[in-house]
Amino acid sequence: MSVDVSARERLDRVRSRIASACAACGRDPSSVTLVAVSKLHDAAEVAALAACGQTIFGESYIQEALPKMEAAPAGLVWHFIGHLQRNKARFAIGRFACIHTLDNMELAQVLQKRTSDAGLTQTVCLQVNVAGETQKSGVAPDGLPELAEAVAAMPALRLSGLMVIPPVFDDPEGARPAFCRLRELRDALETRLGMPLPMLSMGMSGDLEAAVMEGATHVRVGTDLFGPRQRPAS
Ligand SMILES: *Cc1c(COP(=O)(O)O)cnc(C)c1O
Repeated sequence: MSVDVSARERLDRVRSRIASACAACGRDPSSVTLVAVSKLHDAAEVAALAACGQTIFGESYIQEALPKMEAAPAGLVWHFIGHLQRNKARFAIGRFACIHTLDNMELAQVLQKRTSDAGLTQTVCLQVNVAGETQKSGVAPDGLPELAEAVAAMPALRLSGLMVIPPVFDDPEGARPAFCRLRELRDALETRLGMPLPMLSMGMSGDLEAAVMEGATHVRVGTDLFGPRQRPAS
């Protein structure tokens, strides 16, 4: 298929932002995975970005994601980054390279059972509510060790790291303390559990540089790759 020039330009711009942030802190750009957040954008827009070489996509809503994944080009890798309800867990397992948003024991138990029943393993990250905001998904830092120990002991789940959605700031540096805190929590957990937790899923369109400087391995970028989202989130 022909390459969409604007998709190409947006992808180049985001990649060069990642590269500049890596250069500024001495990281190898290949240590940062760009997850293209395609929620509320259609399969044709995914295909246009895929034609430019982007292979990793992130979705937030199961019902929206599944038909889109069928319609999109084969061979893409999908991540789940939205709030996952327990009654939707069975639709998610095995379809996503990683579920970034595990944040409670009940969901962990359902994922473990469904994944095990299907004879699969599922990579997960724990979403942390670093700033302790009410109304927000994520396990509180206080509850993180207990949840992490439980998930690490679930044979069908592969605990790979942590994820954060920081509070929204006008200043792109505003989220940096939350990113730093997520890294510290990850480092402490690695020691406690005695296992590597390589993934740090943090940084979006507005603040990916700060996230890269604090050690992000997966930045989740939607708007700056696809343009504004038109339809409201349901
Ligand atoms: C929508 C979304 C993103 C992408 O945000 P942009 O600001 O559009 O880059 C990243 N992470 C999560 C969890 C999201 O829901």
